[in-house]
Amino acid sequence: MLRSFAILLLTVPGAIAWHDPVHELITRAAMQSLPAEMRQQWSTEYESLATRYCLYPDIYHNAEPAEKSRMKLYCEVSGRAIHNVTWKRAEDLESLEYLLRNLAAAIQVHDTINAAQYAGTLAHLIEDSTCPAHALTPSDSPLAMMRELLPPPPGKEDVKLHTVIERSSPTFDLGKRVPQAAGATYALAAATLLDRIYAAIRVNRAGLIELVRAAYAGDQEAMDPHRLKAATTGAGILADAYVTAFTFGTR
Ligand SMILES: [Zn+2]
Repeated sequence: MLRSFAILLLTVPGAIAWHDPVHELITRAAMQSLPAEMRQQWSTEYESLATRYCLYPDIYHNAEPAEKSRMKLYCEVSGRAIHNVTWKRAEDLESLEYLLRNLAAAIQVHDTINAAQYAGTLAHLIEDSTCPAHALTPSDSPLAMMRELLPPPPGKEDVKLHTVIERSSPTFDLGKRVPQAAGATYALAAATLLDRIYAAIRVNRAGLIELVRAAYAGDQEAMDPHRLKAATTGAGILADAYVTAFTFGTR
């Protein structure tokens, strides 16, 4: 039973991520807020980053062996796949630092194709982690605890909370927000970014009861402020991560 449920979770598209269009939305918002010099350097890979590379951890998860070995460089560190934060601080720092270092190294040699692929995995890591449906991931990805605390009303017993919550987000941009480098060294930058990701997840946790009530009611209007806040926060963290790597790669 548990095993078949796990297989179901792994095979249902979108069950382990923001729905694809939301990844694109957040990635575009982050990229649009970057300094002109950086947008210029990435212009040839802009569309690939927004529509494909930012889905890399999901694609990697389901990839054929040949594709998997090609993508491994961008999607793994120390023999483990990079996806959502794990809440093991040392592991999460390692993932962030690995991506920042390799992104900066590619920027330094103007290897935009390589840079954009590291940037894609970095986007997905931040976006999935700060998605409200992932507030209890990895220990409770389907939000089973929320069903215990707040049992579904009659007729809603089959609701897939995770899937319903992550389905969409209102469109947004970061307006005049100016992205800032997150720290003077890779270790400091990774720690600052990780603390901000953890903080965003705690905000998502605080909103879960309200969000689950809205999900049971099928009330998109009540779900959207939570999604919008999470997506905007994720985009801001991502933009700062990109500027951090750019700063390291051009100094
Ligand atoms: Zn994902």
